[in-house]
Amino acid sequence: MRVLLIEDEEDLAAFIVSLLKKSGLAGDYASDGGRGSFLARTNHYDLVITDYILPKLDGRSLIKEIRDDGRQMPILMLSVRQSAADKSDVLDVGADDYLSKPFSSEELLARVRALGRRSPNIKNRILTFRNLKLDPDTFRVSKGSQNIKLTNKEFSLLQYLMLNAEHVVSREILLDHVWDDEVDSFSNTVETHILRLRRKIESKGEKIIHTVVGRGYRLDYRQ
Ligand code: CA
Repeated sequence: MRVLLIEDEEDLAAFIVSLLKKSGLAGDYASDGGRGSFLARTNHYDLVITDYILPKLDGRSLIKEIRDDGRQMPILMLSVRQSAADKSDVLDVGADDYLSKPFSSEELLARVRALGRRSPNIKNRILTFRNLKLDPDTFRVSKGSQNIKLTNKEFSLLQYLMLNAEHVVSREILLDHVWDDEVDSFSNTVETHILRLRRKIESKGEKIIHTVVGRGYRLDYRQ
């Protein structure tokens, strides 16, 4: 799940970014509304978290720009403004949920999970594919009766492949949804992680993650 955070308070932004990373979510960050709106309309995000009072473009106008552009990802608004009128105003303009500052990390992550379930791309539900099982809430992966220990990135990668099981997923889409903007798209990080994931989930002589030359990867038990 790829998240965009738009927040001008640096300390709060750093806190949220580290929280998202710990939860295995890839994230991009913008410190003003103009840049945030641009990123939200350019990349494919599964969730946008935005402040209300921002430099260049306020949260309300920003959400309007994103929705006017036809983007349907869930949006969570953060704000110290908490009158009922403000909340309904923000929801009217197209935000999906509203969280008043200050909030705890548990509150924020609960909202993120709830909104993630609504995302048209990534759902925070238990995934199964044949004998593979992945649970985003407990961060557990198993194959039959065997538990498999994965890093955050390997977990997100497998989750994305499982969500798209039996379909080819391109390297570019994986970079977009599993990695964040910081990764150099010419590096071989996708290939490296695919290789590590294969070693962990495939038994000897078995092939589950297939390379489709020139197109990407496909999770499949068929040969
Ligand atoms: Ca602010």
